[in-house]
Amino acid sequence: MLVLQDVSIKVEDKELLNNVNLEFGPGIHFIVGPNGAGKSTLAHAIMANPKYNTSGGIVYNDTALDDLATWERAQLGLFISFQNPTPIEGLSNFRLIKEAMDMGTTSSIMDKLNGFRGLAKELNLPEGWDKKELNVEASGGEKKKNELIQMKMLDPAVAILDEPDSGLDVDAINSLIEQLQDFNSKDKTIIIVSHYEKLLKSFEPTTVTVVANGTTSQTTDASLVDKVLSDGFKDFV
Ligand code: ADP
Ligand code: MG
Repeated sequence: MLVLQDVSIKVEDKELLNNVNLEFGPGIHFIVGPNGAGKSTLAHAIMANPKYNTSGGIVYNDTALDDLATWERAQLGLFISFQNPTPIEGLSNFRLIKEAMDMGTTSSIMDKLNGFRGLAKELNLPEGWDKKELNVEASGGEKKKNELIQMKMLDPAVAILDEPDSGLDVDAINSLIEQLQDFNSKDKTIIIVSHYEKLLKSFEPTTVTVVANGTTSQTTDASLVDKVLSDGFKDFV
């Protein structure tokens, strides 16, 4: 269980969110809200992006995360896929996974590489995707697919996906939904920031959180998704 207790998030002394009280247990959780409301800010703060100054408490399975760096949170099982993935020249897509995981022996590395290539093929990524530089000269949709591969390979307990659908074509959206359904069957906590109707309608969420007006409100009432999709956020802002 990931718990945020009275969290406030600032950037350069500007308060973006306060009074954030949220709980994410196993299951699917949606985060919605108007553009610029602070959804990505919330995701980055959970992962300890140093640009964001966070106060209050973030606890994961009884461990206080507040003093832990991003890599330490990742080692505990937290993962983020970025709204805008950063290009890193000289680092290949597979090398990133290899560095992030303890892969053990050469044969185990080959198994992982084959797993990576299988996922890349399922997602219709070009031949040689494992050797391509991370997010360098990749399309928006390709970057999103690559983030999905990272999630499947690293197998985190908690996956925070910031607009995982943006830039994906129709076939890729269907693959994304299938991959998430498969991942969800393993008792994972999946937090999805999205406004994409097909994605939101493909899952029965455990909770829905609206980020608006400098704070968050969370409900277990899944009908909020339909309300937001039809009426927008006018009742929240
Ligand atoms: P959302 O993901 O809900 O669209 P964001 O979390 O990206 O919104 O942004 C929330 C607000 O915080 C916006 O006004 C944005 O300009 C501002 N903001 C986010 N990150 C930074 C940053 N690193 N520096 C300055 N302002 C930021
Ligand atoms: Mg965002």
